[in-house]
Amino acid sequence: MKMKRVFSGIQPTGILTLGNYLGAMKQWVALQETHDCFYCVVNLHAMTVMPDAEELRENTLSVAAMLVAAGLDPDKVTLFVQSDVAEHAELGWLLQCMATFGELSRMTQFKEKSREKEVITGGLFSYPALMAADILLYNTHLVPVGEDQRQHLELTRDIAQRFNNRYGGLFTLPEPFIPEVGGRIMSLDDPEKKMSKSNPNPNSYIGLLDPPDTIRQKIMRAVTDSGREIYYDPENKGAVSNLLTIYSLCSGKTIEALEKDYEGRGYGEFKKDLAEVVVECLKPIQARYNELKESGNINEILKKGAGKARAVAAPMMDKVRELMGLKV
Ligand code: ATP
Ligand code: MG
Repeated sequence: MKMKRVFSGIQPTGILTLGNYLGAMKQWVALQETHDCFYCVVNLHAMTVMPDAEELRENTLSVAAMLVAAGLDPDKVTLFVQSDVAEHAELGWLLQCMATFGELSRMTQFKEKSREKEVITGGLFSYPALMAADILLYNTHLVPVGEDQRQHLELTRDIAQRFNNRYGGLFTLPEPFIPEVGGRIMSLDDPEKKMSKSNPNPNSYIGLLDPPDTIRQKIMRAVTDSGREIYYDPENKGAVSNLLTIYSLCSGKTIEALEKDYEGRGYGEFKKDLAEVVVECLKPIQARYNELKESGNINEILKKGAGKARAVAAPMMDKVRELMGLKV
């Protein structure tokens, strides 16, 4: 039986966070056993915020190394860099021409990201069309992402359907794969905002490479809610509920069990234990990451991955050109 196809991407915009790990990467690793997975370091998406060239290069390699350290097996999955497969940019342009200004204007991620920036590029606005191209090029069935990407995935489906109606049914309609718990890990300094690797305040996130003492400091400093009880109630106790979610996912204990464990105990004790749980969860990933950085065969893995990705993307792009009347 042919395995179902999975595609997902991650931007090399900084050091990966616990939000990326719990919301996306953990699922990427689990799916590699049962699906045909394509995972992409989406450096063309990072261009939307005009990164420094040297920094981008370094971040691209370290994100790829981090994915392998987190458990991706390069022999099982296709791991590659977006700009190594030119078809992404080509299809991205064509789909930009099929997405409407109204649709792109409604993307909450654009609204949020553009609010914080002095310079807003055209690329930041149209980036969901490039994301649609990433996914559709591979006949993707399933897209494991965090909750923040749900809207972009709906747009991807709309664009695919529009293309199929107009030019003939070429694209598979992808489904989102979003974890019920952990799909949206919140910022440590503001439980209203999602944890993000591009947040300029490092105390807002746990970096996957943060040393144990930094993790302890950040968690002890994390905001909490009024009252001193520890229970799950995202509406009224956003900060504590977020910490409980992190605790549960990193320890494997259920949230109910944790609520029981911490009945009658204060935030201080809870946070101290949580810090140790996170430190232990990241320890093996950090050790593998350091090994990989030294052994330095990430470039090789990515080169092989690009070849495998191109073998799928190129014939797909050829069909698109044909259907759209671009071949004369
Ligand atoms: P940036 O701020 O540059 O957008 P990011 O942390 O949002 O960085 P992305 O590269 O945009 O990271 O996203 C990679 C994957 O991680 C996506 O599937 C996204 O949904 C997921 N993700 C990002 N942040 C969180 C979070 N706080 N909780 C759960 N999943 C998340
Ligand atoms: Mg993001």
